Amino acid sequence: MFAGIRIALVFLLVAAASAHAENGITSARVWPAADYTRVTLESASPVKYQFLAVKNPDRLVIDLEGVDVNSALEGLAAKVAADDPYIKLVRVARNKPGVVRVVLDLKGEVKPQMFTLLPYGEYGHRLVLDIYPLQPADPLMALLGQKEVAVPGGGKEQAEKSRELAFATTQENPASDKPAELAKLADKPARTEMRAWKPEVSRLITIAIDAGHGGEDPGAHGKNGSREKDVTLAIARRLKAQVDVEPNMRGVLIRDGDFFIPLHGRVVKARNVKADLFVSIHADAFVKPDARGSSVFALSERGATSAAARWLAKKENDADLIGGVNIDVKDVYLKQTLLDLSQTATINDSLKLGKAVLGELGGINDLHKGSVEQAGFAVLKSPDIPSILVETAFISNPEEERKLSDDGYQDKLAAAILGGIKHYFAKNPPLARSKMASAE
Ligand SMILES: [Zn+2]
Repeated sequence: MFAGIRIALVFLLVAAASAHAENGITSARVWPAADYTRVTLESASPVKYQFLAVKNPDRLVIDLEGVDVNSALEGLAAKVAADDPYIKLVRVARNKPGVVRVVLDLKGEVKPQMFTLLPYGEYGHRLVLDIYPLQPADPLMALLGQKEVAVPGGGKEQAEKSRELAFATTQENPASDKPAELAKLADKPARTEMRAWKPEVSRLITIAIDAGHGGEDPGAHGKNGSREKDVTLAIARRLKAQVDVEPNMRGVLIRDGDFFIPLHGRVVKARNVKADLFVSIHADAFVKPDARGSSVFALSERGATSAAARWLAKKENDADLIGGVNIDVKDVYLKQTLLDLSQTATINDSLKLGKAVLGELGGINDLHKGSVEQAGFAVLKSPDIPSILVETAFISNPEEERKLSDDGYQDKLAAAILGGIKHYFAKNPPLARSKMASAE
């Protein structure tokens, strides 16, 4: 009996000691972006915490229980850049025995969200603090802001008018021809656009360009250290630059920085800017390093066209688990995208677009598969925007990894995608917006 008690005591002591040793914060990361700044604290086992938002001056306080101040936590302050949109300063100190207090001094009032993520992939337990602006930026307003600068001779009066218009276009008014108004604000007069494009189109066509992955979610890795999230952003930026040169097109980057956007958030963002097309850019990976070539995917409502497409869609959809989504936010996104619309017509257009892009990609790279494949990709679930996912090349293939990191080749990939988009529009002219609005 005595022996039994002694064994139990020893076990308790060991458990306490190991829990203490394991409960250190192993990594602290900051992902600043205009959309939101994310702070991630990673640990091998779950960390108990208390979270508090305090006013005058605005600051966020996180009390971490059962951890010590270590180099990972101390390094957090240095990871906050001076130009972080929300965080002014980070202070870390031992508050009382067994409790470390992290204080984030803010630049103003914010909407914070704190949540935990279970281990996934290479990540352990994560404590995540997302800092959102009080008033989320209206992406359409931001676009008009950019065009304001470009309006020739556009003085203060013009800017004011644009702002009024921006406000008007964000209101739900199906009767207004929003893109026509946008076109008026563009740096070229609408008449020039009509000459440059088919006569029935007198508006700017908006291409939503989505750089896959980002922030906590690096995507696939190449043998020589390239990360998919960097390659996709570089190609996306080149594609936007090329699209913007077109007289009647405008590119909108869904992600223009190293931060994560949940998959449904990307869909919502494309809809908010009234995108005509959505192109998600990725760089494939496979266990066998000789897998190579470009491929293009569209959404499927029922099953996948092949086991490989199903596998890829699952892998890409796992981005939300790696990138980290607060369940509350995910629900909001889902509510916004679950519309009572059939996706069948849109999927047919997506297939046509995919075929055109695949044809162009075939001119600069081997094709991994000669036809557009379909599976349940979450990022392609816009009910009314033709959407494709382009696996530009295999980052896991050393030769293709080298090409993917090459500026010239990135431009070629962008040009091929744009070429496909132009072919698609030549055969399928975009609808006048009023028609689309009445379908909404
Ligand atoms: Zn990917």
